[in-house]
Amino acid sequence: MLLATAESQADWSRAAVDDLARWATDVDVRAKREERLKRHTSFGVGGPCPLMLFPEHHQRVVEIVRWSAQRQLPLRILGGGTNLLVRDEGIREVVVNTTRLLSGIDESVGRIRFPAGTATARALHHTVESGRDGLVWASGLPGTLGGAAAGNAGCWGGDMASCTESMIVIDANGGVHDLGKSDLDWTYRNLNVRGVVSPWIIVAVSISTTDSDPGALRARYEDLQEQKRDRQPVGARNSGCIFRNPPGQAAGAILDAAGCKGLRVGGAVVSDRHANFVINDGSATAADISALIEALIIRAREAVDVELLAEVQRW
Ligand SMILES: Cc1cc2nc3c(=O)[nH]c(=O)nc-3n(C[C@H](O)[C@H](O)[C@H](O)COP(=O)(O)OP(=O)(O)OC[C@H]3O[C@@H](n4cnc5c(N)ncnc54)[C@H](O)[C@@H]3O)c2cc1C
Repeated sequence: MLLATAESQADWSRAAVDDLARWATDVDVRAKREERLKRHTSFGVGGPCPLMLFPEHHQRVVEIVRWSAQRQLPLRILGGGTNLLVRDEGIREVVVNTTRLLSGIDESVGRIRFPAGTATARALHHTVESGRDGLVWASGLPGTLGGAAAGNAGCWGGDMASCTESMIVIDANGGVHDLGKSDLDWTYRNLNVRGVVSPWIIVAVSISTTDSDPGALRARYEDLQEQKRDRQPVGARNSGCIFRNPPGQAAGAILDAAGCKGLRVGGAVVSDRHANFVINDGSATAADISALIEALIIRAREAVDVELLAEVQRW
C-alpha cells in the first residue's frame, strides 16, 4: 500500500524525513534511519528505506499519516513482509511498520477484534484456545492480520473476506473509519474499501466467530498445518505463492507442467516441492528473483498461453 504516489512526489525533501524522525523520537515512536527492508521480508531481500517507524497505537498512525499528508511525504505500509519483493536499491518512501500495533484485543459475542499488527498465527491460536471457530482456515498463514486483510489472503477454502466482520481503517488524510461488511469489497487476493480516501491503512480487524470445541479446533488446525508443511518448502526463504491462480487453474500446476521446477537465476530457484514457490537459496538478490519471475511468466505463456499475474507485491 503506497500513500501518495512516489512519482508525483519526486521533490519530497530529506528535510521532511529528518523532521518526521525527530517528531517520532519526541513522541516515543521507535524510528530507524536507512533501515534495510531485507531484515523485514520473508524473502530476505530488499534495500533501505529512508526511515522506518514502528507505531504502537493506531492514534500514532493517524498522527504520522496527517503529518506526512501535510508535507506530501509518501508512506508505505509494512506488515510481516511475507508477501513482498523489495528492490535491491531500496525505496524512497518512509515505511510505517505495523508489527507493533498489538494493543487492545477486544472480545464480544460472535466476534474478536485484533490490532492489525497481530501475527495471523497468534490470532488463530487465540481463537482456537478460546474455542472460537472462524480463523482455522488460516493455519500456516504467516504475516500480520492487517496484511492478510489488505490482500484478502486465503487458503484451505477460506479467506479474509469470509471471516472479517469489520475493520478500522485510517484514510490518506488521517481520518478514522469503522467499516462494516457493506463497506468492504473483496475480490480474489484483493480488498477495496468503499467511500474512504485511498490509500488507507488497516489498524484493526474484527473476525466473526462461532463457539466451538477447542479440542476439535486444535485437531483441525494441526492437521492443516501438517498438510501445509508437506506441500510447501519449509525453512526456505520465500514469499508464498508467487503467482495468482488463473480462473479455474492452479498456477503451480501450470508451472510444473511447463518444466519450471528447479529453474534458477542467480540465488533464486523454483522450489522442487511446489512450482509456484520461488526460494532464495541465501545468496539471491531481488533482481535475481525478479528475473526468475519474468522467466516463469514467459515459460507459462509459451507452454499454455496463460498470462500469469504476480501475487507477491513489488516495491
Ligand atoms: C511460507 C508462506 C506461505 C504463504 N501462504 C499463503 C497462503 O496460503 N495464502 C495466501 O493468501 N498468502 C500466503 N502467503 C503470503 C502472505 O503470507 C500473505 O499474503 C500474508 O497475509 C501477508 O501479510 P503480511 O503482514 O506479511 O503483509 P506484507 O507482506 O507486509 O504486505 C503485503 C501488502 O499488504 C499491505 N499491507 C500490509 N499491512 C497493511 C495494513 N495494516 N494496512 C494496509 N495495507 C497493508 C502492504 O503495503 C503490501 O502491499 C504465504 C507466504 C509465505 C512466506
